[in-house]
Amino acid sequence: MTYNTFAHKICRGGGLPLTCPTCRKSETRVVDSRDDETVVRRRRECLDPRCKHRFTTYERMEVPRLFVVKKDGRREQYSRDKILTGLRKACEKRPISEGQMESVAADLERELFARGESEVPAATVGERLMEALRKLDPVAYIRFASVYRSFRDIESFREELAQL
Ligand SMILES: [Zn+2]
Repeated sequence: MTYNTFAHKICRGGGLPLTCPTCRKSETRVVDSRDDETVVRRRRECLDPRCKHRFTTYERMEVPRLFVVKKDGRREQYSRDKILTGLRKACEKRPISEGQMESVAADLERELFARGESEVPAATVGERLMEALRKLDPVAYIRFASVYRSFRDIESFREELAQL
């Protein structure tokens, strides 16, 4: 899960600060750490030399939620699959590999989550994808742009074409 590489939150049982269950001091060190998909299990040791109590914590990764806000104000949960569906449609029969599309989607996602906001305008998502496609393939770019930014008139469409 790529989400976890940035902006994840760690929950410690009930949101209490991490303290030694025996002496209640908060200085501990990690002696062992094990990850699975969503939970990190850590063996910790209290740093108080008189205590040195060892205990285990389970820290849960929380995937941040992101909503895409459409022009009419509707919010939709961000979905990488939807982004990829749009890209595949634009790149149909073009010399762009699935891997390239996935990396476009992954770059976008990293950028969106790095903003640290819970909402992003759909127009921003569209613009970012257009920028990425423009570098990859002019035909895919035009296809995508014509869907996402319905060209106001034939003239602005020509201007876009001329810039390629
Ligand atoms: Zn202790």
